[in-house]
Amino acid sequence: MIYSFYLKYNTNTLLDLSVISFMLELFFPKYCILCNRSSSYLCYKCIRTKLNVNFKNICHVCGQSCFTSFIHTECEDSTNLDRLLFFCEYSDQSKKLIETFKYRHSRVLGYDLGFHLAKYLEFKCLWNNKNDFVITFVPSHTFKRNERGFNQSELLAIEVSLLTGIKFETILKKVINNKKQAGSSKELRNINLRNSFKISQGSLSEDLLNKVIIIVDDVHTTGATLNECAKVLKAAGCPKVWGLTFAKSLNYSFADGLK
Ligand SMILES: [Zn+2]
Ligand SMILES: [Zn+2]
Repeated sequence: MIYSFYLKYNTNTLLDLSVISFMLELFFPKYCILCNRSSSYLCYKCIRTKLNVNFKNICHVCGQSCFTSFIHTECEDSTNLDRLLFFCEYSDQSKKLIETFKYRHSRVLGYDLGFHLAKYLEFKCLWNNKNDFVITFVPSHTFKRNERGFNQSELLAIEVSLLTGIKFETILKKVINNKKQAGSSKELRNINLRNSFKISQGSLSEDLLNKVIIIVDDVHTTGATLNECAKVLKAAGCPKVWGLTFAKSLNYSFADGLK
């Protein structure tokens, strides 16, 4: 699974990669980030006992049950996202995973997080035709991407695409290098993000205008970033835009008035 990212570029090297994978795991065994036991970067025991995995159908704006639709009709005016899927609650434990992935440049952890995200998406959307969807990601500015060496959302999105078979496409670009978002208030985030994203090719292809676009990001806190991306996609003509994140803050006091 670790090397599935590279298979995108060369599908004839499965055998070579499995040998490389075996050798690397022999010399660099995986340890769970949360419990230090040898298995994977996120073991199933920690998923069961330390992460609050989201099995509920809830409206991402108000946090209340929403069985008949993805979002309450009365909540639609507060967001540009038609649905938000998130693997688990944003807690100290999921924060540790995301920060290790993001700030310690741990690409390999991203492949494991992407694996769980892909399984979660399949679990939630088993009834849907995969050709109706396109996966994309929240872009980072070129400066930030060069500084970190990768964009964590892009890496997760590629992994989810490879494992689910849903088409991946780079649709958005970030044109303003904003200040760091973490810890900012809702108002500051909204002001910071205004006009930050654009359609990377100038306009959307006809094919994309008939799809549900799923934007992948690592975490949803106030929702300002995903909302701004969805706003740009909706303005460009996308009928349906969903968000898919590894974690989501369950503090819903942020959620009003994002649009
Ligand atoms: Zn563990
Ligand atoms: Zn609601």
